[in-house]
Amino acid sequence: MSPCTQCGREFERPSRRGPAPQYCSPACRQAAHRERKTEPPLTQWRRHLMELGEFMETIQDSVAGYRSALQRLQYPSVVVDQMSVAYHAFVLDMVVRQMGATK
Ligand SMILES: [Zn+2]
Repeated sequence: MSPCTQCGREFERPSRRGPAPQYCSPACRQAAHRERKTEPPLTQWRRHLMELGEFMETIQDSVAGYRSALQRLQYPSVVVDQMSVAYHAFVLDMVVRQMGATK
């Protein structure tokens, strides 16, 4: 359970995959979008940092999943470590590019 960014209501996350949803409903998402257009820069900046934090959690989940897949395939632990680091850098780079493209 996590609170909706807009109304604060606790809601169930539909799936463990992908980024954590911020809003309990499409209505809350739209309301937040409308408010965002008029909010002061400092609030926008705080929101940006919060979003970035969620991205980081998602990336950690993703790297952990990748690592355990490699371990199931019985790669040597040195290889697992090196590939996990490379994968982390790759995913992070992709996210940064995506965020840059949408701003
Ligand atoms: Zn809500």
